[in-house]
Amino acid sequence: MAKKSAIVKTAREVKALQLEEEIAKEQIDFANEEIERLDKFIQSQGEIIKEDKEKLEIASKKVEEINESISQELADIEKEKEEVYTSKQNLVSKVDKKILTFYERIKRWAGNTTVVPVKKQACYGCFMKINDKVYSAVIKQEEIVTCPHCGRILYKEKEQEAQA
Ligand SMILES: [Zn+2]
Repeated sequence: MAKKSAIVKTAREVKALQLEEEIAKEQIDFANEEIERLDKFIQSQGEIIKEDKEKLEIASKKVEEINESISQELADIEKEKEEVYTSKQNLVSKVDKKILTFYERIKRWAGNTTVVPVKKQACYGCFMKINDKVYSAVIKQEEIVTCPHCGRILYKEKEQEAQA
C-alpha cells in the first residue's frame, strides 16, 4: 500500500509539473507576442519621429529664410530712411530760415498735415471752403498761402494727382 501510494503520489506530482510547464509555456508565448507587438510599436513610433524631424527641419529652414528676407527688408528700409533724412537735411539747408521757422511753427500743432492740398476750393486740413481771393493766390503759386481758417500751408493739387 505504501509503495502504491508512493507511485500514485509521484504520478500526481508529474502531472502537476506538466501542468505547470504548460502554463509556463503559455506565459512565454504570451510574453513573446507582447515583445513582438511592442517591437512593432517602437518601430512605427520611430518612423513617426523621423517624419516629424524631417517636417521640423523643413519648417526651421523656412523660418530661417523668412528671417533673412525680413532682415534684408529692414536693412533696405533703414537705408531708405537714411537717404530720405539726408535729402531732407539738404532741402532744409536750402530753404529760407524765415520760411523754415514759419513752417516749423505750424508743424508743431499740425504735424503731418502742415502742408495740405486744396481740392474743390477747400482746405484739405480743416475741410473748410476757402474764398476766391485765397484760392486764386494758391493757384498762382507765387507766394506761400495759408488757410484763413486753420493756418495750414496750402498748395494746388496737380491735375494728375487729382485724377488719381
Ligand atoms: Zn484749413
